[in-house]
Amino acid sequence: MQGESATFRNGADLRIGFLGGGQLGRMTIQAALDFDFRIEVLDPDPQCPCARIAHRFTQGDLNDAEAVIAWGRSLDVVTVEIENVSTEGLTALKAMGVQVLPDPAHLALIRDKGTQKQFYADHGIPTSDFALVEDGRAEVLSRGLPVVQKLRTGGYDGRGVQVIRTEDEARYAFDAPSVLEDAVDIEKELSVIVARSTTGEVKTYPVVESVFNELNLVDYLVAPARISEAVEAEARRVALSVVEAMDFVGLLAIELFLDKGGRILVNEVAPRAHNSGHHTIEACGTSQFEQHLRAILGLPLGDTAQRSAAAMLNLIGAPGANGTPLYPALGAALSEPGLHPHLYGKAAVREGRKMGHVTVLADSADSAEQRVLALRDHISTVHAH
Ligand code: ADP
Repeated sequence: MQGESATFRNGADLRIGFLGGGQLGRMTIQAALDFDFRIEVLDPDPQCPCARIAHRFTQGDLNDAEAVIAWGRSLDVVTVEIENVSTEGLTALKAMGVQVLPDPAHLALIRDKGTQKQFYADHGIPTSDFALVEDGRAEVLSRGLPVVQKLRTGGYDGRGVQVIRTEDEARYAFDAPSVLEDAVDIEKELSVIVARSTTGEVKTYPVVESVFNELNLVDYLVAPARISEAVEAEARRVALSVVEAMDFVGLLAIELFLDKGGRILVNEVAPRAHNSGHHTIEACGTSQFEQHLRAILGLPLGDTAQRSAAAMLNLIGAPGANGTPLYPALGAALSEPGLHPHLYGKAAVREGRKMGHVTVLADSADSAEQRVLALRDHISTVHAH
């Protein structure tokens, strides 16, 4: 080994900050412990999943530039587990000499679904045709139906996205700045996670297949995706082209559509660890969380090869749930070989909230899916007690 990354800096000497204290940060802290890296977290919720396990926890508004600056100014490296943060505050920290990764300009570009789509169009990256409009309700019929309307900012986990199929439904369109996209005839929803280090080293994880529930939350995912080698290669090529076009550093999750005509289209990207990479903890040479740390710290990237087929099931708050979480049948499911639980430590369960996940390893993607389907109705819904 040569160069800077040959010297391993003791974790205690390095102050690493995470904006956001949710489950993604929590699983990154779990990975960081193996390197003796100490993660400091800013989040508005003193009961967030990272609060009790962060090296230092600070309560504060992620969108308040002053709060972000006050928290981050004495840190060495600042990163994010959520993109809805004050890029103004991060830009100021960068100017003060704090290493901010991903770059605040990338966070700003990605956070607005309009500028993100425009970026793909400007760089020849395949994506569904679209228009940017100021008032979605007034203009929704201008593109012909069906059309997918997305709020440019503020939506997440399927909220802020709707399909308008009829003139009657146009009444319910959001009256806000929006992207109006052609509806894709989706064969499969795929995703690829790419890590690009400060040294320029790049690694791509195998393509993952996501299956969504009616709330547009990932229901379960299967890895590796059951697609041809040609589609796998094309998905990875398109994902890499996004990373290169942006000159992105950090971890980028690229959500793709495989349409019924066999084309790969970029849906959107997330500049951080992603739900579709949770199985990498057990199924791949290096988890996405460890890889994120390696990428932003300029360490050699870890092996991304998949060692076992896997399926991942989210554990989601039941309709109307509100209170202390109760995981029915999860205890019994622990007798399943190859099943790995991850509970996020959220104090309260609410409808649609991601409370945890389980990963099941199996001999093939099909059998991993079968096992998750057999468990799903018993364990995927989290109740309150
Ligand atoms: P979010 O950021 O809230 O996750 P997405 O842009 O990923 O929103 O959209 C959520 C889901 O809506 C996608 O996973 C897909 O199922 C569906 N969707 C989004 N865009 C399109 C499109 N252009 N055509 C068809 N379905 C779409």
